[in-house]
Formats: sequence, structure tokens, C-alpha cells
Amino acid sequence: MSNPFWSPELAQLEPYVPGEQPRGRLIKLNTNENPYPPSPRALEALADKQLAEALRRYPDPESTELCTAIARQYGLDSGQVFVGNGSDEVLAHSFYSFFRRPEPLLFPDITYSFYPVYCQLYSIDYRMPPLRDDFSLAVENYAGPAAGVILPNPNAPTGRYLPLEEIERLLRLQPQRVVAIDEAYIDFGGESAVRLIGDHPNLLVIRTLSKSHALAGLRLGYALGQRHLIEGLERTKNSFNSYPIDSVAQRVALAAVQDSAWLADSSARVIATRERVVAALTGLEFEVVPSKANFILARPRGIGAEDLYRELRRRDILVRYFNKPRISEYLRISIGTDGEMDALLAACAEIIGSRN
Ligand code: PMP
Repeated sequence: MSNPFWSPELAQLEPYVPGEQPRGRLIKLNTNENPYPPSPRALEALADKQLAEALRRYPDPESTELCTAIARQYGLDSGQVFVGNGSDEVLAHSFYSFFRRPEPLLFPDITYSFYPVYCQLYSIDYRMPPLRDDFSLAVENYAGPAAGVILPNPNAPTGRYLPLEEIERLLRLQPQRVVAIDEAYIDFGGESAVRLIGDHPNLLVIRTLSKSHALAGLRLGYALGQRHLIEGLERTKNSFNSYPIDSVAQRVALAAVQDSAWLADSSARVIATRERVVAALTGLEFEVVPSKANFILARPRGIGAEDLYRELRRRDILVRYFNKPRISEYLRISIGTDGEMDALLAACAEIIGSRN
């Protein structure tokens, strides 16, 4: 039945569907969360007595202390930092601020599936240059008239990493347009493009505390760039919400970003587990796409990806299956604790062994 209250655009909007968030005793390797608890300093900030007073008041609308602390980590000034409720919100503001233009926005044909959703929401035309057969990105495909470029580095859900020289080539191909690099997974082994910001007025780097800082539930993401880009984002933000980040998130995030020793240790642990799992899955004859993220994209042999997904699910292990062209024969597996990954490997060996 037609609904007279919904515009045709609203009726056609296809919302993003996140991975399942089941509660219970599953081994959950489907949404790239960090398997370890956040920094103890972040948890102490939650227990701080001053929080009661902070909650009584409105939050600092500018998140001043937090922006200053984030800027300091990168040798930038606080006017080069924009914070939002998770990087998803920062992405939304970026799309709205910079990519609503007559030309199409460019992003790879396999990438974070929220990008087309924002395009639809903000009526942005887009073009998706194909990745190569090995899922690597061919920078030369990003030349020509465009509203801008956005891509995750490492890419999701492939985990493939684009070296900084290639990012620089990309920045030079679109000098008059914003090139946004979504670094949600950069702490797991890649080199950040932040150090290119000084030389490139078109570079926007977007990051999150959800993955490497183990704070997906807090909802804190940020963008870094030259001042004119950050001012563009502020202009959009102030039209939506004058108090974007709540007081609790500001305090916990502040403590978290200051604990760089915890970040280095925790990321090193995830990376070590990833390398061990890649070797073990290769031993089980999976084809594993090279990853610098906290997940891997792997193609089983001797069983279809969807069947393996179901068999794992029957054993209370949840991974991500995408019923999409080019990746429907792969599973995306987030890196959990060593114990969780041992359970996954044992289950894969058993399921594949029983078919041979
Ligand atoms: N970018 C990419 C590439 C992602 O995979 C994700 C996580 N789904 C996000 C951004 C959003 O992360 P968050 O909103 O939790 O910061």
C-alpha cells in the first residue's frame, strides 16, 4: 500500500544493514570489533566522580580538549581536527559537505557498503572503478571529472593496503577535489596518510576509535585535514547538531587517545594473531587476500563460502558472508583472541575434512 507521508526518495532509500549483533555465547568474528577491552585509562575515565557534574551540564560543543589531544598525537593544531559520533557520522558530513556536485563521486567497486547509501541519501551520483583481479587498486582509474574520491585504506572488506606513494598519485590526479582516505583499520600495520596533509590541501583523513582503540560502543570518529576542509565540515555539523559529542564520550575518548602505549601493544597482538591465522588458513588451502586490517578475506577450497558460513554458524562461530559479485566465494573473518581463532581454525579443519 502506498504511504502518502513518505516522499518517493524516502521510499526508495535502501538503508545500510550492519552485521548481526547477537547477544549470547557466540564467537563473534563478523563486525571487525577489537577482541580486547579498551585502555584501562578509558575505563577509569568512566568511573571518574567528576562525571556526575559533567553530566548535569551541556557538553563542550567544540570538544576542545579532545580535539587538542588528537591534534597533538599527529603534530597538527586543533583547528585541523573534526570529531563526530563514530566515523560513520564524520563520513556523512564529508559526503554532504564536499561531494554534492554535478560530477560523480569515485570509489572502488568493492568497498565499504555505506558509501553508496550516503550517495543515495544526499542524491550524489557515483562511479565505481573496478579493482584488479587481485583486489588491488589501480590509481589511474581515478582521473577525470569527479566530485571527489573516497576509499578506505586498508580497504574493506578486502583488507588490501594502498602504499602512500599511490595515495599521493591519487591526490595529484584530483587537485581540485577532496580525496577522503578512510583509515578505520590503519593501525593494524599500514602507514597513515596524515603526514601528507601539510602538502595536500585536498586530503581528508578519517579515523575511528571503534577498531584499534576497542571503543566501537562509544561512537567516536574524527577527520584530519587542512583548516579549510575542517571548517567546511563544521559548517555542515552546526546546521545539524550544535552538541555533537556527549560529555561521556569526550572524556573517555580523551583518556583513550592519550594511551598510545596501550594502542601499540594491543594492535601488535591483533597483528600477530592475524599472521598466524593467515598461515594456518593457507595450510587448510584457503586463498587469503593479503591484509593489513583486523580482518581477512579468505576463499575456502572444497566447500562454498556460504556453506562454510552456515556450518560455522551451526558451531556458534559467526563470520561475515557477502552475497555480492566477486566476493561471494569469500568469507570475511575478523581477528579475535587467540582462543577464538583456534576454535575457528579447528572448526574449519573439521568441516573441510568431513567433505574430503
Ligand atoms: N569505515 C569503514 C571502512 C568501516 O569498515 C567502518 C566500520 N563499519 C566504519 C568506517 C565506521 O566505523 P565507526 O562508525 O564505528 O567509526
